[in-house]
Formats: sequence, C-alpha cells, structure tokens
Amino acid sequence: MSTKHKARKRFGQNFLTDEKIIEQIVATIAPKRDDNLLEIGPGQGAITLPLLECVDALNVIEIDRDLIEILTAYNKPNLTIHQGDALNFDLNLFNPPIRIVGNLPYNISSPILFHLLENRDKVIDMTFMLQKEVVQRMAADHGSKIYGRLSVMIQAFFEVELIFIVPPESFDPAPKVDSAIVYLTPLKTCKVANIEIFKKVVKAAFAHRRKTLRNCLKLLLTQEQTSIDLSQRAEMLDIDAFITLAIDHEKSL
Ligand code: SAM
Repeated sequence: MSTKHKARKRFGQNFLTDEKIIEQIVATIAPKRDDNLLEIGPGQGAITLPLLECVDALNVIEIDRDLIEILTAYNKPNLTIHQGDALNFDLNLFNPPIRIVGNLPYNISSPILFHLLENRDKVIDMTFMLQKEVVQRMAADHGSKIYGRLSVMIQAFFEVELIFIVPPESFDPAPKVDSAIVYLTPLKTCKVANIEIFKKVVKAAFAHRRKTLRNCLKLLLTQEQTSIDLSQRAEMLDIDAFITLAIDHEKSL
C-alpha cells in the first residue's frame, strides 16, 4: 500500500490499517463471487483489495483523484473505478440490486445515508463503518435520549444492526472517536406512504426536543386530526406512531 498519500481532512480520510478489523469487516460482508458489490470511498484500498479476492467484479466510487491513481496502479482486472461524489451518483449505473459497503467519510455520513434511503429499492444490503455515536443513534429505541430524527428516518426503512465497535487505533490517522460497523437491510414491507411528507413530519417533530408534539407540529396537524397523543414529546413515539402522524397530516392537506 502506498504511504505517500497525505490524508485529507475535508474528505474525511481515516484509513483502516488494522488487518484483524479489515478481516472482520470482510467476514461481516460475507461476499459471494457473483455479488453486485459497490464500495463507497475505497481510499487506498484497505477493504477493496481483500474484497477483490472474493468477488468477480467490484465497483468503487472515490472522490479524491490522488487516490484514484493509487487504486488504478493496483491494476486489478475485476475492479471498476468511478471518480466522483457518492452523493450525486445514480445507482442505476450499477445494474441494481446492489450490495453497498464502505468506511464512510464521517463528515458526510448523514447525507449519504439519506441519499441511499431514497434509493433503497436498488439495494440488497449495506455494511458501513460510521462514527459509533451515529450508529447508536441510528439503532436507538424510542424513549431513549439519543432517539431522534436519524433513528426514525433509518428505522422506518431499514433493519439496523450494530455489528461491532472499532477503536481509533485501527486507523491512520486515528480519529478522535470510536467507530462502529452497522449492517442495514431494507424492510420488506415499508409502511411509509409518502416519503416527503414523512420527512417533513419527523423533522418538525424533533425540531425542538423539549417541546410537545402539539407545539412542534402546530403548523401541520391538530389533536383533532390524529389519534396520536400530541401532549407527548417526539422521543416517546415509536416508528409506527410517526407513520400514523404522517398519514394523518397528508389527509389534512
Ligand atoms: N475505505 C478506506 C479505508 O477504509 O481505509 C478509506 C476510508 S475514508 C474514512 C473515506 C473515503 O471516502 C476516503 O477515501 C475519501 O476520499 C472518500 N470520500 C470522501 N467523500 C466522498 C464522496 N463524497 N464520494 C466518494 N468518496 C468520498
């Protein structure tokens, strides 16, 4: 692996160096030869190279042109490199359904997750490394202090599983926080009828955590328009309750 590349903060570059962790990640992905696999942010190839041993073909999207050079120099016939921003990529290019993996740049992890949420019909599953706190928020149950917009938006569409924690020493440069591997599978039956309405209701509900839903949702819904008790705070509501709120809001329009 090249040691010449200087990690760029603006691209969230923390390169995995711990071989054991890399092995564990590949074991979690459990790639099969004919999997249609896409890696976001391959970097210098820490996960890419072992994955290439397991699959007939691998697509990667990398934004940093210097890293593209390093990846190209490996000269791997089963690797297809795409230079660009994963946030703007049309997943239809990869002949879906696809399995997506990546040690995601922390600075854009939420926008990437939201982009993939909109494209979940093209996805079989996703195995990501993210900041531990982000994964914990994604997986949090209602009633918990860390349950919020991200928890609801993710759990309404995906099964979420925290697989294992990765310490800062596993990277170069070491990030300031712990990381975690999360495994996401699109729900077989998603009950969200209108994603834009759902997004709007969830965003408004969590806009002021200390206020009641009656207050947060006053521009969207009155108590008479819904069976959900609006004297509660958003963090008390499970996913189904948010789905009901969104349906009731849509009916009120
Ligand atoms: N996979 C490598 C590893 O585990 O060592 C690198 C992981 S590093 C945390 C994140 C990678 O994502 C970097 O290679 C970075 O250049 C790339 N990246 C950052 N923003 C990106 C974007 N918007 N689209 C595609 N790749 C991006």
